Amino acid sequence: MSIPQGAELAEEPTSGAQARLEAIAAQVRDCVLCPLHLTRTQAVPGIGPATARVMAVGEAPGENEDREGKPFVGAAGRLLTELLQEIGLSREDLFITNVLKSRPPGNRDPLPEEVLACAPYLDAQIEVLQPEVILLLGRHALQRLLPEAPGISRAHGTLIRRGDRTYMPCYHPAAALYNGGLLGTLRQDFQRLKAHLEKPAATSAPFLSDRSTPAPADEQLGLF
Ligand code: URA
Repeated sequence: MSIPQGAELAEEPTSGAQARLEAIAAQVRDCVLCPLHLTRTQAVPGIGPATARVMAVGEAPGENEDREGKPFVGAAGRLLTELLQEIGLSREDLFITNVLKSRPPGNRDPLPEEVLACAPYLDAQIEVLQPEVILLLGRHALQRLLPEAPGISRAHGTLIRRGDRTYMPCYHPAAALYNGGLLGTLRQDFQRLKAHLEKPAATSAPFLSDRSTPAPADEQLGLF
């Protein structure tokens, strides 16, 4: 695991990816690298098995998550659970986390300095998990992990390969709660995720170089 700058991880107590995730979670719970530690009830490191094929990355804990210490347990989380069930997955199949591990007061947008301070934890989680697909839920996750990518309205539903990682940006479930018109799009994008996961690696569509419009269902887009 690469050790984040400014947030050195404690020595791992036992071997194995799950233990490494737990070591990261312990560091997150004690983290004081940004002022959000002063206002949070508790940090929310993320949850899920080390064997997860899919990692979902949201924006930041909200009020419910801050209270329960788990990601996506409010209304947006219920919609996420439903969308996953529709493609035959349960929450427990995924590792679910956020760009920020502590709640911004009043659920305001993450500040750049908070994103920077928290970045090493997400990077370390990705490195341990080596997920087949990283589902980027909303523009903050997209900006954090694929800063050069087009905005969410263009990038959603496409598979983006960068280095040895594959990403799928989607609208944030909370966006679909506010704008019901996005729900169908989100459902469609989850179907694309399903199709990708069901496709044997050998028959996967080749990665494309750049293109100006989002790729259809089962194409993979290499933007970088
Ligand atoms: N809950 C989370 O954990 N993250 C979000 O981005 C929204 C709700």
